[in-house]
Amino acid sequence: MTRQEILGWLREEDPGRLDELWTRSDAVRREHVGDAVHLRGLVEISNHCVRRCAYCGLRQPNQSLARYRMTAEEVMACAREAETRGYGTVVLQSGEDPGLNRFWVADLVAQIKRTTKLAVTLSLGERAKGDLWAWREAGADRYLARFETSDKDLYEAIHPSQGSRWPSRIPLLEALRSMGYEVGSGTMVGIPGQTYGSVADDVLIFKELDLDMIGIGPYIPHWATPLGSGTMRPRVDRSEQVPNSELMVYKVIALARVVRPDANIPSTTALATINPAAGRELGLRRGANVVMPNLTPLKYRKMYEIYPNKTCMTETGQQCDMCLRTRIAGIGREVGTGPGSRRKVS
Ligand code: SAH
Repeated sequence: MTRQEILGWLREEDPGRLDELWTRSDAVRREHVGDAVHLRGLVEISNHCVRRCAYCGLRQPNQSLARYRMTAEEVMACAREAETRGYGTVVLQSGEDPGLNRFWVADLVAQIKRTTKLAVTLSLGERAKGDLWAWREAGADRYLARFETSDKDLYEAIHPSQGSRWPSRIPLLEALRSMGYEVGSGTMVGIPGQTYGSVADDVLIFKELDLDMIGIGPYIPHWATPLGSGTMRPRVDRSEQVPNSELMVYKVIALARVVRPDANIPSTTALATINPAAGRELGLRRGANVVMPNLTPLKYRKMYEIYPNKTCMTETGQQCDMCLRTRIAGIGREVGTGPGSRRKVS
């Protein structure tokens, strides 16, 4: 697909024409990754963060948030729950938290790999190469780090580098790949200042980076952040601003599927947050093949507030599991078994 075609779809409003895109992305999904929907148990292990991302509620200056860090025993209990529920993967996610020390995380990963059959995905931010190596050696299989937007100026404005070791996330993703991780990235859709042209570039980058996993969700304003409160207003022509609408997220998911036919693409929690009734299903019907039931203990879950009104805040792991299985069966799909790694076709 050319950049021009991608732009055409991003601007398309006609429901009949858009049905063609949905039909195409769903067919590509079925042909390349099948009808199985893989479940990845998500554990939000710490909400401490040293960064000042202008969009994220976990940002270090947000003092209205009580901070927590789970113990290794608590994380292990969640991993065992993931296995008991038949999930193939546990995803450990956090703010960028130096308190999650290299050796502690490595021991935790090793223990999960030793005592379960789970694939382990990490999403712990921009850590030092030595940390990433140690975790890979301990057995971690995958790493997620969204590049958020391909617009360099916008990215630098909303994700200040603070002298970070990684000037942007692209070199980080390349390093992860060279270490043998399966690599996941992705974007938010509808960030203030995000243009149609830059989102078309995002889609081309999904292809170029040959991503194993692609996570796409709507940008949701958080009142305790500069972008969400309106104190930061990136300037952009109104006709160029991409809306953070549900429809726009489906378009980007569908285009991601078309350009990366064999990637694992989740129907994200952020999407379910803006349409709790049907967002999960529509994501799965327009290109996605993964969902991530939340296993974070309830007492911590409301503190992992990257954006407000996150869905599934009060459901136990069991309720999340039941709800998602019902939704998957409701659209005639089946729950995947095994780790659900990417099976490369190209
Ligand atoms: N610290 C890790 C994990 C961050 S949370 C990291 O930086 O990679 C995972 C994702 O949540 C982020 O990559 C971002 O795309 C998304 N996110 C953060 N704030 C958000 C917001 N206000 N609206 C929607 N998604 C958001």
